[in-house]
Amino acid sequence: MSRGDHVLGIRAPELARTTPRVPGQAMSASDPAAGGDAIVGPGESQSPETSRSPGPDAAPVIDAHIHVFPPEVISQRERFLALDPHFAALYTNPRARLATAEDALASMDRNGIAGAFALGFGWTDAALCRMHNDYLLDVQSRYPSRFACFAAIQPRAGAATLAELSRVVSAGLRGAGELMPHGQGYRLDDWTVIDPLAEALVSLGRPLVIHVSEPVGHRYPGKGDVSPVAAWELARRHPALRLVFAHWGGGLPFYELMPEVAADLRQTFYDSAATTFLYRFEVFRVASEICGAERILFGTDFPLLRQGPFLQRVRALGLPDPALRSILGDNAIHLIGGDGSWPGAAGAAG
Ligand SMILES: [Zn+2]
Repeated sequence: MSRGDHVLGIRAPELARTTPRVPGQAMSASDPAAGGDAIVGPGESQSPETSRSPGPDAAPVIDAHIHVFPPEVISQRERFLALDPHFAALYTNPRARLATAEDALASMDRNGIAGAFALGFGWTDAALCRMHNDYLLDVQSRYPSRFACFAAIQPRAGAATLAELSRVVSAGLRGAGELMPHGQGYRLDDWTVIDPLAEALVSLGRPLVIHVSEPVGHRYPGKGDVSPVAAWELARRHPALRLVFAHWGGGLPFYELMPEVAADLRQTFYDSAATTFLYRFEVFRVASEICGAERILFGTDFPLLRQGPFLQRVRALGLPDPALRSILGDNAIHLIGGDGSWPGAAGAAG
């Protein structure tokens, strides 16, 4: 059986409307202009979503980096802004979009995306991580063939963090992250905070997604200062931990031209979340050449970015079919399933 045979619900992408947007400007889900799926990156012109639609036998596409929030966080946004400083830092702007699982499913169905890693948020408050995890458990149980949900975790909570991780993994969540150390009040290389979490995830056999950002370049809300150096050190320190460094690992793939760095990182993955705001899309080709396409995960950071245009731009790169298939879905399925199966009813509690 090929990977992904369990995944259902692939639909042909529809042609989305195109709506000009200023780079870095997020939108509210209730924004009437938010119905289209276009977002325009730095210095780019728009193009309608008309090229390279996958055929009916196309490999399943998995978006390995989206965020979904409980409906009450969206409906009572002001209350949560007051409760959590990191949430406030990212979402005080009313145009910064939040999505429920159903919002994500609607976008996935419009764009032919079979499944997604639904990541938690880096709440400062561990109690809010638990609240978010209760929702993610609900999503995992209601949509086992569409989502692999990752726990919101506050590593500073110590023993309570490990108890929460055990609770949610035994109940069906597939991993942990996205850790956001800059917003949660610790450093990724504070080993007294990170080592216990890393060791627990190794023993549970679950992956960890970490926000990493570029030490150079423009500033933007949520960038933070999680350095590729700390990410590399973490991989060296915990070689058995399955790691996903988000946002192209803050540029870490480029240092894999150094053989000893490549050797340290050969088990790690990079996701492409928010590429539109960060890099030319040629980053997919360049990183594939350096690291191998089998270590790159297609991820959009939905709802920050729209899935349709992002996917179109990846397909339009002209990558070799095996590489494209790996990046768009196979790697994510392999990462999460271990045995090659996407989360499904049989595997949800495994
Ligand atoms: Zn991030």
